[in-house]
Amino acid sequence: MDNCLFCKIIKGEIPSDKVYEDDLCYAFKDINPVAPIHVLVIPKEHIASCGEITSENSAATAHIFEVISKLAKELDLKDGFRVVSNCGEAAGQTVFHLHFHLLGGRQFGWPEG
Ligand code: AMP
Ligand code: ZN
Repeated sequence: MDNCLFCKIIKGEIPSDKVYEDDLCYAFKDINPVAPIHVLVIPKEHIASCGEITSENSAATAHIFEVISKLAKELDLKDGFRVVSNCGEAAGQTVFHLHFHLLGGRQFGWPEG
């Protein structure tokens, strides 16, 4: 997608603080962290949101959850962590390329916080 911020980050056209990369996904630090650890994990294929995951493209998302599990161990989030994907404007999605927020390093409330 030509005008997608995260596609540009994957291509290196916009700088990012890379945490992990493989054939299917890219992980980088969120520019505006809301927790001591705040990593975004995104598929290299452009998928607009969780609402666009299908049987044809879901392998990347399954793989991303394996990566999240490994990253959580590497980042020493043994006390717990949160994975969030905002889907649509009402849910607070601001970048319309599927991404999973990996959050850790503090106590989280539920459902707020
Ligand atoms: P969401 O609001 O769920 O769509 O999440 C988008 C996230 O992307 C926000 O947490 C932003 O802080 C983050 N973000 C926006 N631009 C950049 C960037 N250039 N590098 C890293 N993170 C970004
Ligand atoms: Zn994109």
